[in-house]
Amino acid sequence: MPSCRFLASLVAALTFVAVIFIAMTCVSAEAQIDPALAQRYFGQLKQTSDRDGGRLWGTALYGPIFFVDPASREVAANQADAQGVLKVKDGVWMGTLPNDLTPANTAIDWLGVHWTMVMWPVNDFREARERLLLHEYFHRVQERIGLPAHDAVNSHVDTADGRIWLEMEWRALERALRQPGVERNRAVADALLFRAYRRSLFPEAARDENWLELNEGLAEYTGVKLSSESLEELVFRADRALRDGASHPVLRVHLHIPAVQRTALCST
Ligand SMILES: [Zn+2]
Repeated sequence: MPSCRFLASLVAALTFVAVIFIAMTCVSAEAQIDPALAQRYFGQLKQTSDRDGGRLWGTALYGPIFFVDPASREVAANQADAQGVLKVKDGVWMGTLPNDLTPANTAIDWLGVHWTMVMWPVNDFREARERLLLHEYFHRVQERIGLPAHDAVNSHVDTADGRIWLEMEWRALERALRQPGVERNRAVADALLFRAYRRSLFPEAARDENWLELNEGLAEYTGVKLSSESLEELVFRADRALRDGASHPVLRVHLHIPAVQRTALCST
């Protein structure tokens, strides 16, 4: 007959294995995409796109999109692929992203469809979630609407002069967003002057800044504008994005933000 000591060791070992198993189950359960939730997010995104009705870019933005869980590579899409690989489950099309494709927030060609790919989980808050999804939708259509992406590093804005004159422009834009009439025009003129001066200091700046603004700037503007329900909300969020960007130690990753302010100003 086994001793009590042996039985106690056996129970302890089995408990340990059970705890590990339960923990692993919980982790993988958390990593799974909830098809019902994905379907709800797709439906809300279509509502937001329909509200725009193609006015912003002359084309409806809602189109093929899938979420991908980077750990399990599980995919949940809003439509079928062109090769019949994805399988319907609870209103969405499920499958697995192959190993030769990297999960990311981007536009991608896969299984005969040009998709927007967004990593799961996404933000629970609709406004923040749709800002990202619509930003990525812009990248899916930008080539088609004549605004192809170009790579531009813009490291000049992380030099002392680059940073000073970029922050000067941002502060003028911030003031312009808050002021009416003549004061606004004066602040906009200041912003344009600071921008022109910064660009005069660095030979490639005008080209590289334009490329980034036409790529990430317009993508971000699309996300913020279409996920805002009113002009007041758009201005408030443009202002907040400017402050968040200005506090970042590396400005080149936020250089596209003023595009949101400039286009928000054009809307007011
Ligand atoms: Zn982007």
